[in-house]
Amino acid sequence: MNEYDSNRIYDSVSKLGFVKTKNQSDADCYILNTCHIRDKAKEKVYDEIGRIKKLYRDKKKPIMVIAGCVAQAENEEMAKREPYIDIILGPQSYHKVNDLIKKHIKNHKQEETEFDTISKFGYFDQIKNNNNKVSAFLTIQEGCDKFCHFCVVPYTRGPEYSRPFDKIMSEAEELIQNGAKEITLLGQNVNAYSYIENSKEFRISDLINRLNQYSELERIRYTTSHPRDMTDDLIDCYSSSNKLMPFVHLPIQSGSNRILELMNRKHTVDDYLKIYEKLKKINNEIEFSSDFIIGYPGETDKDFKETLDLLKKIKFINSFSFIFSPRPGTKASQLDIIDESIAKERLTLVQTKLFNNQKEMNKSMENDIIDVLVENKLEKQNKFFGRNKYISPVIFDGNENDIGKIVKVKIQTSNQNTLFGLVKKSMRAA
Ligand code: SAM
Ligand code: SF4
Repeated sequence: MNEYDSNRIYDSVSKLGFVKTKNQSDADCYILNTCHIRDKAKEKVYDEIGRIKKLYRDKKKPIMVIAGCVAQAENEEMAKREPYIDIILGPQSYHKVNDLIKKHIKNHKQEETEFDTISKFGYFDQIKNNNNKVSAFLTIQEGCDKFCHFCVVPYTRGPEYSRPFDKIMSEAEELIQNGAKEITLLGQNVNAYSYIENSKEFRISDLINRLNQYSELERIRYTTSHPRDMTDDLIDCYSSSNKLMPFVHLPIQSGSNRILELMNRKHTVDDYLKIYEKLKKINNEIEFSSDFIIGYPGETDKDFKETLDLLKKIKFINSFSFIFSPRPGTKASQLDIIDESIAKERLTLVQTKLFNNQKEMNKSMENDIIDVLVENKLEKQNKFFGRNKYISPVIFDGNENDIGKIVKVKIQTSNQNTLFGLVKKSMRAA
């Protein structure tokens, strides 16, 4: 979402005449868009400012804007600790960026951390989305009302908000006109999307089914979803939409019901397995990815073994696993953390299993001919980059004309992260 937000902030400031520069010490304005989901984010901001200060030692300082969830959560401390910062901008105040820059130029420090989500999207609905990537992000929903005890999102992104259906579709059309062949619908709880107009509720399934009708669009994805909002209308999309990719990123966090309850997750392992089975029944090719939090306060050996047991039942691919990181203001931050060495040991066991799944999955595709959406050229390697249906990176010998197309790539080798292959003329998809 920060990538989507950064592009939209750029769409806004370009109206003031700003253009992107690759030469770092040339910039008149820096906007650092930050993430607060795990620790160290705050220190990274100060480190980055230190680096920029050095670049500008003999020059006029640039306007320094700190945006995103760190700015939201740490605004007062940041303003006190780092006078180099000129503007502090929370994630629901991005629409004010131009005004804040203009006011700053008149010599005032600015801070804006209101939760003004409706005005934010109202403002950006008037500004064309200029992103012209083959694979584009599109925010449909923001914020969260679920308050998992470990998570900072409800405090930094604010309450759940779903954008109007027709505004999302207009932005999708812009992206398609700009050349997008894949759209990933975004939200902290993307499948909680719910927009009511004239007593009709629009859900993420309606967005997927409508997007499916655009002939120029090849692929649809969405992230991040919550097991509780995996309703049957969304599950049905896996049979009704031929463009919805057979890859479900659905975080479970733990394989222990006791830990899920302590986390306030509001779903059980059994709920998750039922969703898994329903989807596999529709299409056995669907693969699952998850997020895992390891070493949550109170996690016993038995709880952890249940997570390992779950990993035996579902062969997750492309997954994320992290040691619990106490976030300021959350309920879990008041609990006693478990021994660090135990948490690290458990993380290694989980990651070994997840990485092996990934390696095996990639290995199983060697010698296969697979569909790849070509995103761009890797200039240094003189090769092309794209992704398969499971979002895995594919690097191959191709052709400039293939960018934006789905081509058939013969996979020759692979490693844990990437598939390598060759596209032949006769193999290009129609
Ligand atoms: N809304 C999604 C859900 O509920 O499944 C997850 C979105 S959350 C922004 C992204 C991921 O960050 C979570 O799934 C979780 O694994 C991880 N995460 C969040 N807070 C964390 C914490 N305090 N420590 C470690 N990982 C955390
Ligand atoms: Fe955070 Fe997701 Fe829980 Fe919301 S549902 S609090 S975003 S982990």
